[in-house]
Amino acid sequence: MEIKIELTKNPKPKPSSENLGFGQVFSDHMFIMEYTEGKGWHDARIIPYGPLCYDPSIMVVHYGQTVFEGLKAYRTRNKGIVMFRPDENIKRLNQSCDRLCIPRVDDEFTLQAMKKLVDVDRDWVPDAPGTSLYIRPFIYATDPYLGVRPSNTYHFLIITGPVGAYYKEGLNPVKIYVESKYVRAVAGGIGAAKTAGNYAASLKAQQDAKELGYTQVLWLDGVERKYVEEVGTMNVFFVIGDEIVTPELNGSILPGITRKSCVELLKSWGLKVSERRISIHEICEANDKGQLKEAFGTGTAAVISPIGELFWNGQRMILNGGRIGEISQRLYDELTGIQYCEKPDPFGWIFPV
Ligand SMILES: *Cc1c(COP(=O)(O)O)cnc(C)c1O
Repeated sequence: MEIKIELTKNPKPKPSSENLGFGQVFSDHMFIMEYTEGKGWHDARIIPYGPLCYDPSIMVVHYGQTVFEGLKAYRTRNKGIVMFRPDENIKRLNQSCDRLCIPRVDDEFTLQAMKKLVDVDRDWVPDAPGTSLYIRPFIYATDPYLGVRPSNTYHFLIITGPVGAYYKEGLNPVKIYVESKYVRAVAGGIGAAKTAGNYAASLKAQQDAKELGYTQVLWLDGVERKYVEEVGTMNVFFVIGDEIVTPELNGSILPGITRKSCVELLKSWGLKVSERRISIHEICEANDKGQLKEAFGTGTAAVISPIGELFWNGQRMILNGGRIGEISQRLYDELTGIQYCEKPDPFGWIFPV
């Protein structure tokens, strides 16, 4: 399928590279294509970024039939632009589609669409250290219908925007509230899909934790409130003695690409990394014995987010004296080094635009 391109006649002023936040500024163009039952995906085009007009009854607004992805393009020292493992994001997008009864998109075509869009807006890729162009692909149900069933029509959009360095003054360990009341997902639910409903389910816990002075919550399993699942909207790792543990992909955990990359890196360094069930009791016990050395979240936005404190059941656990741990720092340096092409890319994770 051909991608038609309509360039904007009113380019927007670009924000300075120094004071970028997250998700507030959008580039000049967006990609859109449409799906109609019986016809498949059609009318792929890149057009000026702007509002779209819909019937108030479109299904996504009422029942949340939608999936999304998040990845970044980086401007490297030699001024080239690269993406980090976009093939993995597209694979996961299609897995999410399967779970939400949304028609799949073609992997190779989607990669080309993403590259083309970033290329059209390449001047929007910021160049200050730690900044990047965030890429948000998403698909949603557009049938104007209030009955509950999968939609027969969809829109697939990709929007992008420059985002700032997540950490302006180094990696700051955060305070985490271990959530024993609310859960984000259950086995058999939609926790493994990147879809809006999981985020809606997480807001209340996040709000309550904030009020108590915590940055994020640590999610436990939905049945026993015992086994660790994720931290906020990130996957989570614990360093216990000489073992690095991350919860196994059990169907309610989102299969993060940063998580996968960390596991692969740690293995390549000859470290002992386990994907297994880990209970909050095991973490407490390890902390009591002085064996809980580090904990950190992993995700595209922050890359590595060190945990400085965990609060559970009246107990306050301070990790590594509230400072960033050795393994957290090494993973952060290696991943960002690869992403900005300042380190070799032995795994083939980098895709030039
Ligand atoms: C996107 C996401 C992650 C992290 O995935 P990455 O591919 O590493 O960015 C983790 N948990 C949830 C709930 C997510 O939505």
